[in-house]
Amino acid sequence: MMNMSLWNRFWNRFSSIPSANRKKVSDIDLDYWKNRGIRLILIDCDNTICKYREEGIPKEIANWVKKAKKKGFKIVIISNNKKSRVRQVAKDLDVGYIALAFKFLIFRLKLEIKKNKVSPKQTLVIGDQKLMDIIPGNIIGTYTILVNPLSEKDAFLTKIISRKLEKLFLKEQF
Ligand SMILES: [Mg+2]
Repeated sequence: MMNMSLWNRFWNRFSSIPSANRKKVSDIDLDYWKNRGIRLILIDCDNTICKYREEGIPKEIANWVKKAKKKGFKIVIISNNKKSRVRQVAKDLDVGYIALAFKFLIFRLKLEIKKNKVSPKQTLVIGDQKLMDIIPGNIIGTYTILVNPLSEKDAFLTKIISRKLEKLFLKEQF
């Protein structure tokens, strides 16, 4: 039989429980995470940095990104959205990006961590979806922060699959 602590360790990896919950990205205390040794921030685009299908980044979030860069964090946007959209947001914020990460999300996160020569425990994953942001981060072993979605509007697939699954399984289970 599998040793209990080993089982717990295995199960914890698939957890949808974030390390922290915040209302929005700009509520995340950069100094706190800096002191915990975070160097790389992998952040979702739609409904985390900006509203789905809306141009423009909320000022307080743009300022937060600016502050984070000044404090020495490396920031990379990771998104399932198409390249042109993510590229524009990344350009506006002057940060790196990975678009169309959907299929290989965990692989892409891992690769980005390796590329930046940090460990998962020096990495913070931020997003508005448990399924697409928090669980992949937890599986890899990063810190994770769940924020409230900036808007009620979601991409079609997010609406019919991701949010429904979250409601069905994750809320009750964890
Ligand atoms: Mg999102």
